[in-house]
Amino acid sequence: MSRPAPRLMLVAPFLLVVAAMTGAAWHYGYRQALDELSRRGEADLALVLGGLISDLQRYRDQAVALADHPSLTLLTGAPRAADRRRATQVLIAAADRTGAGALHFVDREGRPRAGTAPRPDGFARSPAFRRAMDGALGSAHGHDAAGRRYFEFAAPSFGADGRVNGAVIAVAMAESMEFGWRGMSTAVFLVEAGGTVFLTNRSELLGWGKVPGKAELVPPEGPPLRFGQSLTGPHEIWQIALGPYLPRRALQVAQVLPRIGMTGAALVDVAPARRLAALPAGALAVLLLFFGALLLMAQERRRALARANAQLERRVAERTERLTRTNRALHREIRERQEAEAALRRAQAELVQAGKLGALGKMSAGISHELSQPLMAIRQFAANGGAFLKRGAPGKAAENLARIDEMAHRMDRIIRNLRAFVRNENEPMGRVDMVRVVEAALEMTAERLESDGIALDWRAPPGPVLVRGGEVRLGQVLVNLITNAADAMAESAERRLAITLDPGAPVRLAVRDTGPGIEEPEKIFDPFYTTKDVGREGMGLGLSISYGLVQSFGGRIAGTNTGAGAVFTVELDPWPEERAA
Ligand code: ADP
Repeated sequence: MSRPAPRLMLVAPFLLVVAAMTGAAWHYGYRQALDELSRRGEADLALVLGGLISDLQRYRDQAVALADHPSLTLLTGAPRAADRRRATQVLIAAADRTGAGALHFVDREGRPRAGTAPRPDGFARSPAFRRAMDGALGSAHGHDAAGRRYFEFAAPSFGADGRVNGAVIAVAMAESMEFGWRGMSTAVFLVEAGGTVFLTNRSELLGWGKVPGKAELVPPEGPPLRFGQSLTGPHEIWQIALGPYLPRRALQVAQVLPRIGMTGAALVDVAPARRLAALPAGALAVLLLFFGALLLMAQERRRALARANAQLERRVAERTERLTRTNRALHREIRERQEAEAALRRAQAELVQAGKLGALGKMSAGISHELSQPLMAIRQFAANGGAFLKRGAPGKAAENLARIDEMAHRMDRIIRNLRAFVRNENEPMGRVDMVRVVEAALEMTAERLESDGIALDWRAPPGPVLVRGGEVRLGQVLVNLITNAADAMAESAERRLAITLDPGAPVRLAVRDTGPGIEEPEKIFDPFYTTKDVGREGMGLGLSISYGLVQSFGGRIAGTNTGAGAVFTVELDPWPEERAA
């Protein structure tokens, strides 16, 4: 799912809800405001119409009151000019008092007899006049010859004989009545029974007519203007385009005036109501949008957090997976290393053994000589012993037997040494007398030293020199050092082997020769390093094995040149009791 889609799915319905709620709030507010506006419009209209009716009433009453005036009742038959002047004065004075447009007295034929300047077309055709001639109070409205609108009331004037003599006609100009309404913000108009606007405070409406059966107003000439009508609740709203002085959208209130046969109407601008309604609706919208935005932000943040979380989890999972893999690889490596170590240990053990066998090989000639010599001697002593017994000299024979026994012991010692040297078993560490180790090693190599003409310089210390180690392995080290020294001195003119043993801490054993010295002292302990004929003379293992052995006892072995040959020193920890002693 792409990112904007869910947000849109969330925002669109929310905006719809906000729009609906704002619309509802606006509508409610509008209805309330319209109610108020309607009340105000009705009040305005009632005020205007009330004023109009009371004005008209006044003119009518005046006409009625003047009808019986003595000055006017005189004006029958052929009145005198003086009577007419007086009557005219009365009428003008009365008109001035009430503000009526004009007051006239007319005879039965409708001819003016007295009064302010009469209408040029006279009154004969006025329905109000004719009504008065019938003895009733007449009223009418219309346009005079100059096109001015007027209301007129005609009151019959009765003679002494009770017959109608004439009539008093009060004429009021419509314009003067509208005058008081001009400043009103509400447009007010009166429609006569015929459907034409007769009276209004918006001059542009004058003469407009109502379409029969409809509310619509159409101009007196030209095409009808755009007109819309709708109902909001009980209120009738007009949408009109009647010029700048009329509201484009107006609430219409009407009131019927049966007395004068007209319908009064007012058009109240609804713009304030709309503004009034828009205010709380707008506030509501802003509030809703604000909270909506807050919600959206919270939602966004929650989503971002969830995304970050998922990413984190994915990364953790990836890393865990990598770590697991690395761990497995490590385990494998450890196993391989352990196996390699075991193999190395095995190889080392085998090397030790090989080294021992190699040394043995080198010594075998000497050993067989060592053994054959006492054997020959034994044979000789046995033959001699037999001869002495035959000669009856048991004393001499016993002497020979004792020599045989001595020889056998010597052979036994040699064989024991050899066996011990070759034995391939783990000898425990313990207390070892270095004097005995040196002497056993010399015994094993005695033949070699003798055949090479090597002078031995060895003075054993008076007592045992005890160290911590393994007797057999130390013997192996020493045999190795002695044979190496002998090898080195093969070409030397002076051949002297000096072995010294210094008790102390550490116990120090030194093997010196008078050979040519070590060629590359830093390499001699490396396995397979040899300067001799490989295979026949050396394998390069002797010193590296010795190094391992001495180190396993916690000691040190080192080889250096003295200037007159080489010296190998072995340092070992003294046996604790010995050290204490
Ligand atoms: P190998 O005796 O089989 O050669 P070693 O490990 O015992 O093996 O000796 C390694 C090398 O150290 C010898 O080949 C020799 O070069 C040198 N070396 C050992 N002892 C002496 C010595 N006493 N004098 C001179 N060089 C020696």
